[in-house]
Amino acid sequence: MKLLIVGGVAGGASAAARAARLDSSAEIIVFERGEYMSFANCGLPYYVGEVIKQRDSLLVMTPEKFKGRTGIEVRTQQEVIEVNADKNEIKIKNIESGEVYSESYDKLLLTTGSSPLIPPIPGVDDPDVMTLWTIPDVDRIKERVDNGIKKAVVVGGGFIGLEVAENLVERGVEVTLVEMLPHVMSTLDAEMSSMLESELADKGIKLQLANGLTEIKRDSSNLSVALKDGTEIMTELIVMSVGVRPNNELALNAGLKTGERGGIKVNANLQTSNSDIYAAGDVIEVTNPILNAPAMIPLAGPANRQGRIAANNIFGAKETYNGTIGTSICKVFDLDAASVGPNETTLKAAGRDYLKTYIIPASHASYYPGSEPLFMKVIFEKNGKILGAQIVGSDGVDKRIDLLATAIRSNMTVSDLAELELAYAPPFGSAKDPINYVGFVAENIIKGDTIPVNPDELKEGDFLLDVREEDEILCGTIPGSLNIPLGQVRDNLDKLPKDKEIIVFCKVGIRGYLAERYLREQNYKVKNLSGGYMTWKLFNRDGIKTNIKYAACADTPSSVSSTEKALELDACGLQCPGPIVQVKNNLDSMAEGQELKVTASDAGFYNDLPVWCESTGNTLVAIEKTDGLIKALIKKGAGAVVNSDGTMTAMPKRTTIVLFSNDLDKALAAFIIAIGFATLGHKVSIFCTFWGLNVLRKDHPPKVKKNLISKMFGIMMPRGARKLALSKMHMMGMGTAMMKDVMKSKNIDDLPTLIGQARLMGVELLACEMAMNMMGIQEAELMDDVDLAGVANFAALAEKSGPVMFI
Ligand code: FAD
Repeated sequence: MKLLIVGGVAGGASAAARAARLDSSAEIIVFERGEYMSFANCGLPYYVGEVIKQRDSLLVMTPEKFKGRTGIEVRTQQEVIEVNADKNEIKIKNIESGEVYSESYDKLLLTTGSSPLIPPIPGVDDPDVMTLWTIPDVDRIKERVDNGIKKAVVVGGGFIGLEVAENLVERGVEVTLVEMLPHVMSTLDAEMSSMLESELADKGIKLQLANGLTEIKRDSSNLSVALKDGTEIMTELIVMSVGVRPNNELALNAGLKTGERGGIKVNANLQTSNSDIYAAGDVIEVTNPILNAPAMIPLAGPANRQGRIAANNIFGAKETYNGTIGTSICKVFDLDAASVGPNETTLKAAGRDYLKTYIIPASHASYYPGSEPLFMKVIFEKNGKILGAQIVGSDGVDKRIDLLATAIRSNMTVSDLAELELAYAPPFGSAKDPINYVGFVAENIIKGDTIPVNPDELKEGDFLLDVREEDEILCGTIPGSLNIPLGQVRDNLDKLPKDKEIIVFCKVGIRGYLAERYLREQNYKVKNLSGGYMTWKLFNRDGIKTNIKYAACADTPSSVSSTEKALELDACGLQCPGPIVQVKNNLDSMAEGQELKVTASDAGFYNDLPVWCESTGNTLVAIEKTDGLIKALIKKGAGAVVNSDGTMTAMPKRTTIVLFSNDLDKALAAFIIAIGFATLGHKVSIFCTFWGLNVLRKDHPPKVKKNLISKMFGIMMPRGARKLALSKMHMMGMGTAMMKDVMKSKNIDDLPTLIGQARLMGVELLACEMAMNMMGIQEAELMDDVDLAGVANFAALAEKSGPVMFI
């Protein structure tokens, strides 16, 4: 047998090593066009970040070592340029010498992998535009970083883009991440990836979401990227990571069948449409067994397994590859994000029926330090079949996603998860592991023991019952909900409607479930909010971004240990709302201005405390999370910021602007003021109503159905920030154009840029629903990420605000 393998990294090297073990007498040659075989492509980003310190560690195998171990010859820098399938022969070009020669084969294995996509935009061939795919790529990027570049733009928010962005930040580079879609990491649904976005923003990455790259500009030594919304970002390095395409040229040349997205079509034995040619890895089209549809899933695990199976089959076995379910995981600073199977977006597009549940268990016994919440979303069918799962957290994500992947592969149902016997001791899990919980909750849903409602299904006017303790409500609640703590529900039934559906919720869903069961027994129509308030927050933009607000405390003592006069409170071992209750009790007996240093092990405390301090008018001086313990320093005081000299300055932290006008000058003023307050650390909301709504309109909205009057309104009103006119001296457009020119010459940002900056700084844009209805403006016509708000939302904001301005 003479086996030729094209490609000597993941799939190719695996196949070669397996082949050598199956038949040591076979003649096997591996051709690799790169300089290196079997290198650790998955480790490349971490070498940039110097997490992996030695370049040599990336070179997992050398041709010499491989030959010694397996007897197989690996020819690097040899590119296969042609496959003659009729003659069972390939042509190879020696890249160093330019020599072209041929080799015949009995069997050929194509493991040519994939290559990064380069979008065809102006300027993309600039030498500072790079991709991270190979050892020479990483050398180039690392050299630029070692030379001290200050700024980089990473284009693409998938796995590789996120890993590159993180590792550049670790090296002190200021990174802007540009993603064309509204969210990073498209394997996750939006609410789950919102946690990653918060984490990226917390770690200083500037996010440009829903904003595609349109041009790369080089002006002498200045490099910049231009984005779809007109934003321009100066940079020194651009790393492109916008997706991959299969290296299928040889397959096409050999006349092999390929799929819609160019992947080589193979049968279950990984044999191509030519019986002497097999293929494996990123270059093949796999079957997604859950959707029963073809898919391109470029991952190292599948490539390695396919290489092995292909070798087995080439040497006479009849082994089948059972498709790829896309089990994957990625580290994003302190968070891990993992998924398996299709997400909800994909299932919806495929027209599949499904149920879903959100649970947020602790990663291990919450009284043992280091426990963190696991945000789990599991999608399943009525018959219990598990379709997919997504998990975000900072502890124990990997083992839970692997358990779910194993369960899917073994055709286990959610009921089987409830029965799994898993290893338990407090540092590792809970007696009822999060995976068991998935089983319990999903079983309850299937049996009808609980009727869940998901946060994205809530409607205006729903009757919401919050059964958390009063102190927890101070950490935030769903607007308009009624609070009756679980223990008091029995005594307050008269406050609940019998004729209306009640949606009950707690922090993560467990107390909500207890209330749901009790109320149903009392003949109330009741549902439980899946994943509780914490999951609702994921759908409601601020998500878990609360710590961003504490950028305002940057000039305050940043270390919890920096004060000696503080009283100490040890709230370790207590679970929510225990630590908050303890903080409250302690502060109640303290004098204004006195400090309390608290240590807690409940992971939720990290997000809860900032909001609690804001709502109770106390000052959070510092908060930090180390080794699973949360340490915070609180100063009893009325909504104040502590100055570096220890004095307190009263400073309201919320500013609300009502933008009523669509005059260019007034809109400019509104956004300049908003940015000003945001730089002071205020949470700024701009509530756009009536003509102000026009500022939020998209330049190119999708087609929407409208009646005649709405259409007329739409035509008469300016569409978006670029179309606004000055309130005075518009002079048929001349005055406005002159003003824009003057602003440009004085380097004053135009309105779209200011809006972009404001959004980056967390300014919240709200569209008045009532005014939208009156003016016939629909949500799809507004910029992405604008929230719709009613008067009640505005009133709630204004009540919490310091300045409220009407423009
Ligand atoms: P590759 O490993 O890419 O090997 C293909 C080889 O074929 C290449 O070396 C190429 O030079 C060679 N070749 C192509 N055409 C020819 C030709 N005509 N002649 C000779 N040689 C040729 N996956 C994960 O699961 N987890 C991760 O964390 C992860 N991180 C990643 C990080 C980075 C930066 C990158 C680039 C990829 C990462 N991946 C990860 C993806 C994973 O590396 C790929 O899915 C896997 O390597 C695919 O294996 P393959 O054998 O199909 O292709």
